[in-house]
Amino acid sequence: MRELGHELVSLEDARETMLSLIGVIDTETCATPEAFARVLRQAVEARDLIPPFDNSAMDGYAVHAADLAPAGEENPVTLPVAFRLRAGDAATEPLGAGSAARIMTGTPLPPGAEAVVPHELTTFTDIEVTFSAPIEAGRNVRLAGGDMKPGDVPLGPGAVLGPSQLGIAATLGYAELEVSRRPRVAILSPGDELVDIGDEPGPGKIRNSNACSLRAAVLESGCEPLDLGIIPDNKPAISAAIRKAIEGGADAFVSTGGASAGDFDFIKEVISEEADPAHVFKVAMKPGKPQVFGLFDGRPFFGLPGNPAAAIVSFEVFVRPGLRKLRGCSRILPEIFEARFPFEQNYKPGRVFLLRTRVEAAPGGGYEVVRPGEQDSSFLASLARANAIVVLPSGGGPVREGETRPAFWMGGAGR
Ligand code: AMP
Ligand code: MG
Repeated sequence: MRELGHELVSLEDARETMLSLIGVIDTETCATPEAFARVLRQAVEARDLIPPFDNSAMDGYAVHAADLAPAGEENPVTLPVAFRLRAGDAATEPLGAGSAARIMTGTPLPPGAEAVVPHELTTFTDIEVTFSAPIEAGRNVRLAGGDMKPGDVPLGPGAVLGPSQLGIAATLGYAELEVSRRPRVAILSPGDELVDIGDEPGPGKIRNSNACSLRAAVLESGCEPLDLGIIPDNKPAISAAIRKAIEGGADAFVSTGGASAGDFDFIKEVISEEADPAHVFKVAMKPGKPQVFGLFDGRPFFGLPGNPAAAIVSFEVFVRPGLRKLRGCSRILPEIFEARFPFEQNYKPGRVFLLRTRVEAAPGGGYEVVRPGEQDSSFLASLARANAIVVLPSGGGPVREGETRPAFWMGGAGR
């Protein structure tokens, strides 16, 4: 067997190497309502005033401010209701001085009207309305262009399209958007010990849980999973699975297991021999030390460790940012925040320790670590409530009560 060189690297260096090799996928046109979780590849520019006309922010009465200047509890002002307006009406006749117009939210303000008094602050009949306080000009009026003006560019290439962004594109009249094609990510599960999750594991066997985790992680990353199922632990089978994935239109690959130094760990061999370039890393992090990365005709292959917690952490650290790069996202790396330890946390020195745990808003502000569960890289149960990864530097513990360490959220589609 050929001896493979390992590169002992920091998490940051390994990630930087991977990211620098990943290109941005091609674009396609997508109907705006279908573009959720896609990555925008064009500028979205306002071509009109938004809102397009001055309009009422309230259901109430449009008035001239001067008519209400003398109004007070003891001195109510009563005006005739000149006309009634509802949303969708075009701008009407001007509002004459000494009269009010009944108006609904979103309705164009009649010319001359300066303010809207909410109807709950008035007493009214069909023909007249009484006010008991003055009002300043401009109150409860939304000015044309107050939200966006021609030339404003609220969204640009690299924006991830969530509900707010799609609303912006829609209100600006973009019925279609140029977006990144949704990458198809092949999931490979090499392992002679694995059985499908619906099957009863025989002696020495376990269920293929990683494919299920990865499928969700791929979906959450705005990509389309292509599950290739369990693959026998031999080089031709792995090689054939990769070819099959390429024929199936895979834009990227994620495998778990077979990445470390065991006798039947063939992922690193196949990638070393068939990918170009190929990297077999020993990353100074725990969990997730063995990492394999390569390109197949420019398509990234992430070979993650097999232990379930290590696979999930590795996805967060390497694959999610890698898929963001592939999708053309403007933000690639996770956002870091500080998490405070309300207890002392010990850990072994030597490698960066990625503590998967629950982090919650602290009563006094900021974020606080909830006492973490068992951190064995093969254990899944302690991840049940984990929502974050806290980065404990390689110098070792303890982290003292009250100290903070950098952390980032797990998951986070669209963020
Ligand atoms: P390996 O690197 O292939 O030796 O795998 C390391 C550990 O991860 C072993 O205990 C494997 O049984 C386990 N493992 C590998 N692949 C999977 C998988 N798809 N689902 C669950 N556990 C796995
Ligand atoms: Mg294995």
